[in-house]
Amino acid sequence: MLNGKTAIVTGGFRGIGAAIADKLASLGANVAIIDMAEPDAMAEVTSNLESAHNIKAAAYRCDVSDTEMCKETVARITEDFGGVDILVNNAGITRDNLVVTMEEADFDSVIDVNLKGCFNMIKACGRGFIRKKYGKIINIASISGLTGLPGQANYSASKAGIIGLTKAVAKELGGKNVCCNAIAPGFIATQMTQDLGSEEDFLKMIPLKKLGRPEDVANLAAFLADEASDYITGEVIRIDGGLAM
Ligand code: NDP
Repeated sequence: MLNGKTAIVTGGFRGIGAAIADKLASLGANVAIIDMAEPDAMAEVTSNLESAHNIKAAAYRCDVSDTEMCKETVARITEDFGGVDILVNNAGITRDNLVVTMEEADFDSVIDVNLKGCFNMIKACGRGFIRKKYGKIINIASISGLTGLPGQANYSASKAGIIGLTKAVAKELGGKNVCCNAIAPGFIATQMTQDLGSEEDFLKMIPLKKLGRPEDVANLAAFLADEASDYITGEVIRIDGGLAM
């Protein structure tokens, strides 16, 4: 159970992030959502979380690629909730193209949101974790960062970067009782995969012959947020129906 803990979930408005926010709240955690969605829409999501799970929830409009905005937002969350215990770096974007035709701006924006966003949030939460001698950092990577995927040079690079970041942070903060792990999902049914193409093509490649659900990733995130995983750090766990083995 996560009673009394406070979790930040970036990109928590929809898709995998929303499922993670809901799962952590169902286990008793208070939840702060960071996203770029409209404030009214986010307020509806957090008010549903509060009434469904009897916890405190609030949403903050913040672009994770903006270092200063992350710092200010984490300071506000710390004041509003009295501290942060769990950080789920989930916000992510794709701007797919072949490497020779990829615009520089599309390479930069994917690195800025996916990789630098994780760095910004870890930096903003890090001192609080060190002071408390407690923290659980969960970074959402991708199998694209493990195997590389054609058309995703920017995305694969950002997700491989997250894996390196995860291991460095795990080594730096391990002595302060802060765990840092990464989850590498395969194809999960969300808006992001809807934009990618025909489902049948994916299914042929997946040993379990089905797409994952956001709830599958949320269950794993909940395990990594819980004391049941206290001796696991620097790990990258695939959740991909066997796709990248
Ligand atoms: P979605 O596109 O459905 O949701 C992503 C969320 O992140 C949106 O609410 C989006 O808000 C928010 N977001 C985007 N940019 C920013 C930003 N700069 N600052 C704050 N919030 C932002 O994605 P998924 O749920 O599918 O993916 C979630 C994570 O899982 C991503 O990191 C993705 O790379 C990873 N992943 C997903 C897989 C899949 O198959 N779906 C597979 C492997 C990894 P808005 O749209 O309002 O900007």
